[in-house]
Amino acid sequence: MINALDALWEQICGNVRKGMTPDAFQRWFAPARLAEAGEDSLTLTVPNSIQQLWIESNYASVLQDAIILTLGDRRAVKFRVDTNGSPIQRRSGVAGGLAHSEAVPSLGEAELAASEVVKHHNGHGSNGGRVAGLNGHGSESTGGFNPKYVFENFVVGSSNQFAHAAALAVAENPARIYNPLFIHGGVGLGKTHLMQAIGHHILAHRKKARVIYLSSEQFTNEFIDAIQQGTLPKFRRRYRQADVLLIDDVQFFAGKERSQEEFFHTFNALFDGHRQIVMTSDRPPSEMQKLEARLVSRFEWGIAAEMQVPDLETRTAILRKKMANLQVTLPDDVVRFIAERISTNVRRLEGSLVRLASFVSLSHEKLTQARVEDLLRDLLQEDALKNVTIDRIQRVVAEQFDVRLADMTSKRRPACIAFPRQIAMALARDLTRASFSEIGSAFGGRDHGTVMHACKLIASRMESDAQIRQLILALQSRIKN
Ligand code: ADP
Ligand code: MG
Repeated sequence: MINALDALWEQICGNVRKGMTPDAFQRWFAPARLAEAGEDSLTLTVPNSIQQLWIESNYASVLQDAIILTLGDRRAVKFRVDTNGSPIQRRSGVAGGLAHSEAVPSLGEAELAASEVVKHHNGHGSNGGRVAGLNGHGSESTGGFNPKYVFENFVVGSSNQFAHAAALAVAENPARIYNPLFIHGGVGLGKTHLMQAIGHHILAHRKKARVIYLSSEQFTNEFIDAIQQGTLPKFRRRYRQADVLLIDDVQFFAGKERSQEEFFHTFNALFDGHRQIVMTSDRPPSEMQKLEARLVSRFEWGIAAEMQVPDLETRTAILRKKMANLQVTLPDDVVRFIAERISTNVRRLEGSLVRLASFVSLSHEKLTQARVEDLLRDLLQEDALKNVTIDRIQRVVAEQFDVRLADMTSKRRPACIAFPRQIAMALARDLTRASFSEIGSAFGGRDHGTVMHACKLIASRMESDAQIRQLILALQSRIKN
């Protein structure tokens, strides 16, 4: 029970973080806990009523968005003040000086403190990148390291085998073998996890190592901040004296010339000093547009490892591992269903699991197939959209109607071709994010009015003709699977 609630809260927090600065998160959300999760409401415990007031008046929509992202729909949020909530002590104090959440005496003072936090942050506070000090307890990333992102929790499969091996080699021999290590791949495939695992490993074996983890965005923000406040030397010292610099999502350096320049020098200083640099990005160095050539070539000095979408077997193994960590068990057919249908993003896979696990532990209903589909509808849809291409739709439809693939794009208009083509256009509209005009050009340069007409026509045929409806639903599921 506790586990499912904590896991759910952590997922929500992961989404809350996207809407605020790390310090603000630490100040206002880190001390909160999810106490109850009902069908239409969530109850949070907070250490005092100021905490509640502040969240309600400043972060209500951030919180609600995070809930929708996590659970698929909105929930009313209730608060309970828990004055002797010991977890708070455990959680605070990691984010640095500004986050002392103990004993807030009056609203006035709390407000003052908070406005300082916010102001500090609008100028981009310098607290984002956390230096070492890995705090083993508590179960969340504190604006920096996430204690769960360790090698032991990482499932290796053919999609990530090479990246994993390279990361492990770097962790065991920093600055010796692969420097820099450049990990790239799509969203939610485990880049940050692997990168932080390197940091955890190094810290576990070399207590004194200065390991810094931060995103290129934080680097940029802190750099700007340092310029404004005249603290560049301090900024430079901090990063150029690191033993290991883990810098996440370097694609954000694209187009930011001065930050790139600064990072170039940081990179050189570290490299010349035989310090390890690890970077992640959503694409390989060679494809980073608006990145100076000299920076790209630095990135290519070491080794680049790509992370791909995990295969079914790996996805299943990941689910099993996460279930064990959460101490939940879902029926085999449910696990198979999720692994099969959520195929492009491990974060989403994890999100589905947490959602189902919290359902199982909080309600006494049986987890039927229909229930699962209902609970995961938005996640399933997102995943399907990613996978489906217009080309695939054309192939499946052509096959079904036994027409040539070329007929999908040809100008020929006999009904036996025009109708399948219209169905394919309507499916393209439903199953991809393509616009009417994009669909039109994929179907042999037709205009957007033609596509709109096809969509309307098919929608009305589906309403009036059960057989056609059946046919199209069957096509949809064939295309998606
Ligand atoms: P990225 O940085 O590539 O967007 P993350 O590292 O944030 O992705 O991973 C998203 C989530 O998926 C994390 O919770 C992570 O623990 C999990 N994850 C990804 N790949 C694996 C894996 N191979 N084994 C276990 N968990 C994984
Ligand atoms: Mg990441």
